[in-house]
Amino acid sequence: MELRAVRKVYRRGTQEVRALDGVSIGFPAGTFTAIMGPSGSGKSTLLQCAAGLDEPSAGQIFIAGEEISGMDESARTALRRDRVGFVFQAFNLVASLTAAQNVELPLRFAGRRPDRTEVARALSEVGLGDRPGHRPSELSGGQQQRVALARALITRPDVLFADEPTGALDTRTSREVLAGLRRLVDRQAQTTLMVTHDPVAASYADVVVFLKDGQIADRLELDPGDGSKPSRVAARMARLEA
Ligand code: ADP
Repeated sequence: MELRAVRKVYRRGTQEVRALDGVSIGFPAGTFTAIMGPSGSGKSTLLQCAAGLDEPSAGQIFIAGEEISGMDESARTALRRDRVGFVFQAFNLVASLTAAQNVELPLRFAGRRPDRTEVARALSEVGLGDRPGHRPSELSGGQQQRVALARALITRPDVLFADEPTGALDTRTSREVLAGLRRLVDRQAQTTLMVTHDPVAASYADVVVFLKDGQIADRLELDPGDGSKPSRVAARMARLEA
């Protein structure tokens, strides 16, 4: 996935807010990128534009080589349904449905009859193969977020977008979800973009991109074997905020 000279300007009365101010960046297939930056730096706007939830004011966005900027609304709806997956801070599971039924939903929305082995496989990929019949209220927060992850991946999206996926979880269950994300990247080369403000969460990625005032201000490549990753990420973040 790639962004070229992307700008997003919001108008507030007579004022212009440049939420993204000339962002050019590539996210190679099969890599896990964390996006960090102070509040208001443009992280959510970047994610929303990149995922086709919002349109940039200028510039181009490509997913798997295809330009998505400038697509009409029906093409963008199809893109969101078939080519990208989302997980949010709120798990957004349907309370009355089981884990397996929640995971099936995107296939049903796409008019496909869910194949039971496909759903079982998605649940085992996130370590929940033994819980297909549980309802969200019978699962922990970390387990619920992993159901949401399986649901995001059932359509085999080109890119997975995660917006503060561990924001509502405690340290231990956050780790379950982050390890699950990492495993998907390592085993299935799932291209993943995650917005987070937590240096520990960001340390699971291959690279951390730092935004400030709508521009890319810094970038940190992470070495898998480096135990000091969270503190290195936190130090860069502190430098950005100074
Ligand atoms: P972050 O996710 O890093 O906190 P955002 O992408 O939410 O940053 O916001 C970037 C800037 O754009 C901020 O100044 C924010 O106030 C502004 N902004 C975001 N969404 C809107 C909107 N819908 N209307 C007006 N301004 C917005």
